[in-house]
Amino acid sequence: MANSKKAFITGISGQDGSYLSELLLDKGYEVGGLMRRNAVGELGNIAHIKEDIKIYYGDLQSPESIALALLDFKPDEIYNLASLSSPFASFSDKFASIMITGVGALHLFERAKQIVPQAKIYQASTSEMFGAPRKVPQNEETPFNPANPYAASKEFAHRMAVIARNDKKQPQFIACGILFNHESPRRGLNFVTRKITAGVACIKNGKKEGIPLNELGDPIVKGGKLKLGDLEAKRDWGYSPDYVEAMWMMLQQDKADDFVIGTGEIHTVADFAEEAFAVVGLDFKDYVVTDAHFVPPVQTGPLQSDAAKAKRVLGWEPKTKFKELIKIMVHADLAKFS
Ligand code: NAP
Repeated sequence: MANSKKAFITGISGQDGSYLSELLLDKGYEVGGLMRRNAVGELGNIAHIKEDIKIYYGDLQSPESIALALLDFKPDEIYNLASLSSPFASFSDKFASIMITGVGALHLFERAKQIVPQAKIYQASTSEMFGAPRKVPQNEETPFNPANPYAASKEFAHRMAVIARNDKKQPQFIACGILFNHESPRRGLNFVTRKITAGVACIKNGKKEGIPLNELGDPIVKGGKLKLGDLEAKRDWGYSPDYVEAMWMMLQQDKADDFVIGTGEIHTVADFAEEAFAVVGLDFKDYVVTDAHFVPPVQTGPLQSDAAKAKRVLGWEPKTKFKELIKIMVHADLAKFS
């Protein structure tokens, strides 16, 4: 499908960045994006589409690198997906979290205002901003009450986006998607869902070597057991490819706005583990052990979305259900960790 539009994605090699790139390429967009250079030159989730996209090496902490990329690419749409996205890790990396996830977003908004003032911007806000929520389920009117440095940094970026949107002198189109957890086989291994599905695969395949490491640097599966934190933590989990479609829909509107995106269904970590082990005919109680090291110092949740506005205004609804999501992830990891 021919389309003369250009879309620029920060965090393009991440989970959502890669699925969004695929969606936009399918729609005929020219796609470019910012990613950090790593020592080994790996492209991660975008290796398979590297010939179809334009990669700019840079960093959200470097306004110069953002400016150079925007000057060269001149996007019509900008998706700000770059962040240090682990709430758990943000406790041990508070300053980086604020500087990248919070201040980095502001650098992007300001550079975009100077270089491509007409560009529509998507800001990746998060349900984590509801933190210890004042109300269940949460919608666009629910007050924020962040419970970790990641969420506080995201709230700063969110508020700066709304301020830029409401600026009477030079308003910017910045839509904020308040997305609830969304997962996929491309989710980082330091997130509980992926840790579970990778653990299930290693156990089922009887894998002895090359077992991936958890966020503490230990093998995910050790002595046949999978260590997890709080099994009763409750989340609303959806499928990343469904959610990147909502991001695109938000930028096709005439007016920038905030939208909660989620399934509305809530499950515990134990529910997720039970389903994942059941996919390969195992009982999670025989393999999962809890370890307080994986419990964050301040707890978030329960997080449950009320995405009625997204359905009404955007026509968006999740397509992939909880059990289907888990099957997709377990089967992908069975093949990856064989
Ligand atoms: P992800 O896989 O962690 O992707 C984030 C990307 O940002 C990574 O590729 C990372 O690159 C990049 N990045 C980190 N610091 C950077 C910097 N200083 N400069 C440039 N790039 C940098 O996260 P995701 O799941 O795709 O999520 C996309 C966005 O949505 C994130 O902002 C996340 O916080 C937000 N969000 C996610 C969820 C969810 O459940 N997935 C829910 C709500 C909101 P490196 O590999 O170099 O670190």
